[in-house]
Amino acid sequence: MKNYGPPAFNAVRGEGVYLYDEAGTQYLDFGSGIAVTSVGHSHPKWVAAVQAQAATLTHCSNLYGIPQQQKLADRLVTKAGAGRVLFCNSGAEANEALIKLARLHGEKLCAEEGKRFTVVAANNAFHGRTFGGMGATPQEKIQGGFRPMLEGFKFGELNKIETFDQLVDETVAAVFIESIQGEGGLFPAEASFLQELRALCTERGALLMLDEVQCGIGRSGHFFAFDASGVKPDAIGMAKGLGAGFPIGAVWVAEPYAELFQPGSHGTTFGGSPLASTAANATLDIIEEEQLIENVAANSPAWHAELQKLAEKYPDQIAGIRGAGYMVGLALKPEGLNLTITTAAREKHLLVVPAGDNVVRLLPALIATPSQLSQSVEILDGVFANIEH
Ligand SMILES: *Cc1c(COP(=O)(O)O)cnc(C)c1O
Repeated sequence: MKNYGPPAFNAVRGEGVYLYDEAGTQYLDFGSGIAVTSVGHSHPKWVAAVQAQAATLTHCSNLYGIPQQQKLADRLVTKAGAGRVLFCNSGAEANEALIKLARLHGEKLCAEEGKRFTVVAANNAFHGRTFGGMGATPQEKIQGGFRPMLEGFKFGELNKIETFDQLVDETVAAVFIESIQGEGGLFPAEASFLQELRALCTERGALLMLDEVQCGIGRSGHFFAFDASGVKPDAIGMAKGLGAGFPIGAVWVAEPYAELFQPGSHGTTFGGSPLASTAANATLDIIEEEQLIENVAANSPAWHAELQKLAEKYPDQIAGIRGAGYMVGLALKPEGLNLTITTAAREKHLLVVPAGDNVVRLLPALIATPSQLSQSVEILDGVFANIEH
C-alpha cells in the first residue's frame, strides 16, 4: 500500500552506525530506524544472542513461563521501581495497554464502569496508530479519515501546568505524556512541569503515565528521560530502542496499580517471546557493558554545542535546537525546509528523520562516537551552505 510513500533507496545491510544500500553506498545513520537500533546495526553480541535463541526456542506463547522474559522484567523493575511489567510488540500496543490500565483504575475509583475514564494527554503528542493511540494524538494528519475516534481524551499544553490543572477533575483517570515529545517536533517536558504534574496527579487520584517509547532506554543520557526530573510515574510505556531492532514493547506499572490487571484482563500471543526477550536482554547487556548511557551523557554537550553553532551560522534557516542526549531536533524556519534538508542530507550520505513543526530529528545509535557526531554536523553544514545559495 502507499502509506509510506516511495522509498529513496533499498536498505540491505547495517553495521554499527552505518546503513548500506544495494550499490554499497554507506550512510551515516542518524535515524536508527526511528530511534530503534539503539546499540547500532547488527551488534555482534546482539546477533550472537538472537541467533543462539532462535536455534533454541523462538516462541511458546504466554501459556508457559519464559525465563528470559522474567529476567527482562526484573531488569526493568530495577530501573523503574517496585512494580510489574507486561510485554507486547510495539509502542502503540504498549500505549494501548496503558490506556486500558487507566480505564481499570478509573473503574476501581468509582466502582462503576464508564464513570471515570478520561485521559488527559498533551497537544502535539504522538502515541501511536491504534484507536487508543490515535485518540491520544490530537493531530489532523493522524486522526483524519479515521473518525469517530475513541472517546475519553482531553488535551493540555505541554509545560503549561495550569492547562492540566484545569482539566484534571473527578472524571480523569490518568495523565499521559511523552517525557520528550518526538514525532510532534522534539519538545522536552521540563523537569519542573513533570514534578508539578506528579503532585497534581497524586492530589487528584489520577495516574501519571509516561510514554518513553522514543526517548527511553538511554537515548536521553538517562535510562528513562524522566529520570532527569526525579519524578516517579505510575506507569511507563516502552518499545523502540528496547529490542534494538527486534520488535518488543513493554509497560511497567507501579506496584499498587499493577494489580489492576488480573488473569484474563489483557493478553498477547507474541509479546515477550523467548526471542524478543533475548534481543532486549542482549540490548540491555550491551548498554551496560559498553556504558552507553554514560557515553551519551558524556558526548552530548559538545555535539549540542556544535549544533548550536550551526544554528547561529544559518540564522535564516535554523530557529534553534531542542532535545536531550542523542535525541535532538533542529527547528527550521522556512516552511517545509525539514523535508528539503532530509533529502539533501541523504544525498550527502547522512540519514536524518523529519518531525512535526518543521523539525529535522537526529537520533544516532547510543554507540555513536564524538567523531561520528561531529561528522553529522559537518555534513549538515554543507547541506545548509548549499541551501543558502
Ligand atoms: C513511535 C512511537 C509510538 C508508536 O510506536 P510503534 O512501535 O510505531 O507502534 C508511540 N509513542 C511514541 C512516543 C513514539 O515515538
